[in-house]
Amino acid sequence: MMQNIRIAIQKSGRLSEDSIDLFKECGIKLDMGKGRLKSVSSNFNAEFLFLRDDDIPGYVEDGVADLGIVGENVLVESAKKVNLVKKLGFSKCRLSIAIPREESFEGPQSLQNKSIATSYPKLLSKYLKENGIKANIHEISGSVEIAPSIGLADAVCDIVSSGSTLLSNGLKEVQEIFKSEAVLIGNKNLSAENKSILEKILFRINAVQKAQD
Ligand code: ATP
Ligand code: ZN
Repeated sequence: MMQNIRIAIQKSGRLSEDSIDLFKECGIKLDMGKGRLKSVSSNFNAEFLFLRDDDIPGYVEDGVADLGIVGENVLVESAKKVNLVKKLGFSKCRLSIAIPREESFEGPQSLQNKSIATSYPKLLSKYLKENGIKANIHEISGSVEIAPSIGLADAVCDIVSSGSTLLSNGLKEVQEIFKSEAVLIGNKNLSAENKSILEKILFRINAVQKAQD
């Protein structure tokens, strides 16, 4: 009997629905019962693990999962060693610097010696370093956009898709630093069997994407 490839997807959040739909469109059945952590496909050699997105790169690196779907932002920030197998084209967003609406921005130098709140310290420090800027990075895990109004930071570096969250917190987007979309990632040492299951999955994803063009 062939083993199942283990695929980690986000349990509930902005990646979940499109991740599930992608496999459904590929003809791979999965049922996501409420509160379940795992689901075995009834018609394909795959089982799905439902996890928090932040945990997915680590699980794929460790081989607890063979494949996973995460935002490229989370993948790069995690610094985990996995293969980026394919960009998937959904959950598009950008990581941007935003500052209070009434302030001016004349390029990266406007951030010199400022404090910036973010959940993405690695991506932010790379940007600052590339631009020769020294700034104080405040790492916070959520509600980054309120930091300037409570006096915690001068600026934020956060994920933006429409910009409405920034606006409602009195901020304006001034500099994009990273573009992201959902990506399929894979463990670096897949077994021969799992490699051939991955080939089948990729063949189907490509067919689905061609049909949608
Ligand atoms: P979890 O509970 O799994 O940790 P989360 O709250 O960290 O979830 P989501 O908000 O569901 O994560 O976002 C998942 C991914 O969706 C982000 O990492 C990003 O790649 C993408 N994304 C697209 N648009 C947005 C947006 N407007 N805000 C945040 N993330 C977005
Ligand atoms: Zn998360």
